[in-house]
Amino acid sequence: MNKKEGIGDNGTMDFVPFVIAKATLLFLAVVLVIEYAIRRREVSRDLLKNLRKEQQLATYSAELRTLKEKLARKSEIADQFPRITKKMTEKFPSESYPAIAVRSAKEFFRAGKVGYFAQAEDSSDYTLVVGAGFPPEWVGNVRIHSDEGILGMALQKRMVVSKMDLLSSSGRRPSRPSLEGMDVAPDFVAPIFGISDVVGALVVTGCSFPLEEERINMSMLADLLSMALQNATLLDPTRDGNWVDPLTGVSNRIYFLQRFENEIRRTENYRQTLALFMLDIDEFKKVNDTHGHHAGDIVIKRVADIVRKNTRGYDLVGRYGGDEFMVLFTSTTEGQAISSAEHLREKISTADISIPGTGVPVRITISGGLAMFPTHGQSTTDLFRSADEALFESKRQGRNRIQVAKSVGLYGGIAKGTGADQETPISTDPSADAGSDAVEYPLGKLGEDLNS
Ligand code: GH3
Ligand code: MG
Repeated sequence: MNKKEGIGDNGTMDFVPFVIAKATLLFLAVVLVIEYAIRRREVSRDLLKNLRKEQQLATYSAELRTLKEKLARKSEIADQFPRITKKMTEKFPSESYPAIAVRSAKEFFRAGKVGYFAQAEDSSDYTLVVGAGFPPEWVGNVRIHSDEGILGMALQKRMVVSKMDLLSSSGRRPSRPSLEGMDVAPDFVAPIFGISDVVGALVVTGCSFPLEEERINMSMLADLLSMALQNATLLDPTRDGNWVDPLTGVSNRIYFLQRFENEIRRTENYRQTLALFMLDIDEFKKVNDTHGHHAGDIVIKRVADIVRKNTRGYDLVGRYGGDEFMVLFTSTTEGQAISSAEHLREKISTADISIPGTGVPVRITISGGLAMFPTHGQSTTDLFRSADEALFESKRQGRNRIQVAKSVGLYGGIAKGTGADQETPISTDPSADAGSDAVEYPLGKLGEDLNS
């Protein structure tokens, strides 16, 4: 019995530490499991965090890449556009401009194919005139219906059409001869405008840059080509039209005003500035009185020639009437316009104008008024008024000088480098302009002429 009890006692005694040990182990195991679970949660939270960070980083670096690409494209544009503009504003025969535009567009868009299409001589269809990347045998031979596909759409809408516009349109398969039917899928087609209507279309395929961002550049290139062709036509002595002033060959007022309106819209779209320069021969009546009306005509013609030769192809020269001319300096800053106007004044005042039958050449001077869009006016009427007032001010202050129109609350400066600016400093006296309000220049005439 005792032994049993003994055994029993010992058994109980052994059992207790065993249970305690087991419980401790269990407790430790539970603690470990809990800790493990906590750690695991922390680790997976960290992992998630890292994953998010990595995703964020990937997004940032993709954004950075896009930004870098955009920046690189912007600096490429900033580098290329002035060169293209310069080339397109040089004076060439009109047939050279499409070739320059095609080459420029090919390089500018790093495009697969670029072509200038115009109406074929023997039909109303369009044909390839100049191409880069197009089969050479297409020139003059291929026929595209002027109402079909993306080309037709651009010609009808009279605006740049891109491939994306077509995707959102009806999607009808062209049934008549079209670019699409000849396996050409243009990214852009831009209509090219002559003096009175559309004369052609610039087609670009395989543009290497995002189309939506390039549309404005396509539009600017097309505008450059349109303006170059219009000016070349205007100055072509073998062609005449009712837009040319018969005595001088520069544009007449009606055409000038029409182009002026277009230029204002274009300038507004591209957030540029332009300048209207009005100039009038000083004391021209004396030339007529001294040498006769015919000599006066020769002087007027010579002034027109000097102005034309000393302006860019892209600028527009017009005769307002009598001995008064106007120049549209396009895409020009005020500083550039002042020096261009000053250059003209200088060239005219130093020119010896020979009059047949008289031994001594005639010398004349001009006075000018310069108005900037949008600073000095936002419509043709306002800009004509501002330039006219500035011109009157030049006359009032002694002639042979150029005056910039006054801005609201400010007074325009006198072109630097003129002799006049040393004699007459920039006026800050409001009464100095009082006379300009009183002068009666024929400001309404342009509008009247157009309506009549
Ligand atoms: P100002 O310095 O104030 O301009 O004096 P101006 O003598 O030049 O005066 P204005 O500009 O008013 O004179 C223009 C003259 O030009 C008047 C007109 O007899 C003459 N005229 C207008 N058209 C022609 C033309 O086609 N040929 C010629 N020879 N003379 C013209
Ligand atoms: Mg005059």
